[in-house]
Amino acid sequence: MTPAVTDAPATVTNTAEAKTARTKTTAIKATGLTKSFGQGEAKTTAVKDVNLEMWFGEMVYIVGPSGSGKTTLLSLLSGVLRPDAGTVDVEGTDIWHLSEDKLADFRLNKVGFVFQDYHLFPRLTTAENVAIPLILRRKSWNEALVEAKKYLDIVGLASRADLPPVKLSGGEQQRVAIARAIVGQPDILILDEPTASLDGDTGHAIVSFVKKNILNEKRCILIVTHDSRITELATRILKMEDGRLTGWEKGGDQ
Ligand code: ADP
Ligand code: MG
Repeated sequence: MTPAVTDAPATVTNTAEAKTARTKTTAIKATGLTKSFGQGEAKTTAVKDVNLEMWFGEMVYIVGPSGSGKTTLLSLLSGVLRPDAGTVDVEGTDIWHLSEDKLADFRLNKVGFVFQDYHLFPRLTTAENVAIPLILRRKSWNEALVEAKKYLDIVGLASRADLPPVKLSGGEQQRVAIARAIVGQPDILILDEPTASLDGDTGHAIVSFVKKNILNEKRCILIVTHDSRITELATRILKMEDGRLTGWEKGGDQ
């Protein structure tokens, strides 16, 4: 029988592991997640009965072929797309049973989402792009811009604050998207194929940067990727095939 991906270790073999096991706090726990699109003959079940648990302090990857349901799964976990069945528990709250208002709060305050193609607004400056989540939280424009520039500094782009995204390289735009995702200090950062349109060195540098500067014991990071060049950076790697999580590529003993 295939082990459930959420299985905890049956035994703990040394003191360091025992300490980790004791201090683990669940960030996200998904149970029985299922999502289909379309109807009748055109129906596609993109996510099939997925169980997943992530802990704070982890950087987890999901890998799998195109069309295997990775983006759909991220959308279900981050409060963007409602599942047909199953639950997503984040820090003790079942997000899909929240009211629409509370769910919007959750999306704004708890998760940062970096889309594959960045989704930057072309007519805004880099700093204005990063300020948007703060504006949505009703910060004043000036306050939001000051804060946004701090985060641009964190991602090494302070000097680009007043330029439109089109003047930036792909790697720089990716860093702007990351700054925008973390400006509200979310506990959970989700990145969909963050290195897909970057060269190998830039992609590795960005994910190393995220791990070093953004991951801590109160945060967790979930990354969908095809990119074997960044494998070494993951705490755990889960495999997804045809809508299901089918096992681990790394870290299954954790
Ligand atoms: P991945 O991110 O692994 O490439 P996706 O989650 O994007 O996979 O897609 C999984 C399956 O669901 C695919 O067959 C895709 O065509 C289908 N799908 C995804 N989003 C939609 C949608 N909004 N409407 C219809 N089908 C969709
Ligand atoms: Mg995808």
